[in-house]
Amino acid sequence: MAANLFPRDLKPDSSTDFLIIGAGFSGLVIAERLSAAGWKCVVVDRRSHLGGNARDGIDAAGVLTHHYGPHYFRSNSPRIVDYLSAFTEWHAVSYTIKSHACGRYWSFPINLNTFEEYLGRPATTEEFTAWLEQKRIPIADPQNSEEVIISQVGRELYELFFEGYTLKQWKRHPRELDASVCGRIPVRTNRDDRYLSESFQALPKRGYTALFETMLNASPGVELHLGVDFEQARARWSHKHLVFTGAIDEFYGRRFGALPYRSLRFEHESFSAEQLRAREPISGKPGFWQPAMQVNYPEPEVPFTRIVEIKHATGQRIDATTIVREFPKDWTPDDEPFYPVPAPEARAAFLRYSELAATEPHTSFIGRLATYRYYNMDQVTAMAIAEAEKLISKYGSNL
Ligand code: FAD
Ligand code: UDP
Repeated sequence: MAANLFPRDLKPDSSTDFLIIGAGFSGLVIAERLSAAGWKCVVVDRRSHLGGNARDGIDAAGVLTHHYGPHYFRSNSPRIVDYLSAFTEWHAVSYTIKSHACGRYWSFPINLNTFEEYLGRPATTEEFTAWLEQKRIPIADPQNSEEVIISQVGRELYELFFEGYTLKQWKRHPRELDASVCGRIPVRTNRDDRYLSESFQALPKRGYTALFETMLNASPGVELHLGVDFEQARARWSHKHLVFTGAIDEFYGRRFGALPYRSLRFEHESFSAEQLRAREPISGKPGFWQPAMQVNYPEPEVPFTRIVEIKHATGQRIDATTIVREFPKDWTPDDEPFYPVPAPEARAAFLRYSELAATEPHTSFIGRLATYRYYNMDQVTAMAIAEAEKLISKYGSNL
């Protein structure tokens, strides 16, 4: 990786074919694709590291942790998995989580086990299906996150698991959020308690950072410059085409006002093997702090939304562990804009910027922030590959 890294004050060249702003999934994937077509790419990021929000690394306790919240790779696209498999091996994971409410852990997402916990006795799929039929509020075409959940499970389970969590996470009522926000959480009447439903679920074996480093090493045409922001980069490298993966409202100086975002504060805490011994009655598993890789806390009295113990998922063999509490936070320009807000008025505000963006002849806007979409990693990877293909058909190959 070091081969592609230039110190901030060193000027290796002042021109490039493609100038790419942001070294997250979207910026690095498009750089790799363009470099494979023979083009020179300069990638910059204002942060001091590559990987964007998918950054991971070994912490002071020796534990492989995700820096900006848990990143569970999943995909239904064999093409995306094949593409990324050139840069990593995979550690298969069946992601399972729990919810903590009313002083106890619940199987979550809602499934037959949750129903049995709710009743306090064994039940069958038939009984659960009949119960849901009685409780659910029929809504043919749910228009928001409240409707999408009450139309599947009714009010009791919605209030127990969704309402409080969503209010904390987004600081708005589920009925003010697109149906897709809560609708991405599955509801099942069998015992399948996996958090996600995609056909491929795995983590990069040595982590996301290692995946990106391998990708860069395979891309001799890519230079990475960290600690450099868009304005500095634009002044320093003349370019044929710009790829912007930062926030689109920032690109345009917020001339129509700032788009809404939600931010997060992460609180990390590590525990030694000795400290963990006392937690065994709770975690049920030696060497762990809690019973699952993620426990959600939907109740309003608890200030965080979830606690993640990623060691459950990475399979790292180490005595210590690290947990990360996630506290939702209002976004200010000094915070990371972790989440675009999937809501009608936010989308309308974004449209004003995207209309401007569509008129830029030599600039592409890709990724979660530039397209203002609540996209997962596989989706931004697909978007970056598609944009690279478009650019290669526009400018040709340079091999
Ligand atoms: P980013 O990763 O945000 O990268 C953009 C980069 O651009 C950043 O590094 C930023 O510093 C840089 N940048 C921005 N503006 C400028 C500028 N003006 N100058 C220089 N640099 C700039 N996805 C999943 O698939 N599974 C998950 O489990 C999952 N969990 C998530 C949990 C959390 C808490 C969050 C916030 C996201 C999660 N995601 C998950 C989504 C995932 O993070 C994104 O899909 C993916 O990282 C987006 O990549 P990106 O390159 O578009 O954006
Ligand atoms: N959600 C909820 N209760 C939960 C888990 C999720 O209400 O226990 C809602 C919440 O609004 C959240 C959304 O479903 O923002 C999507 O959840 P996910 O776990 O996919 O969130 P992410 O990992 O993207 O933050």
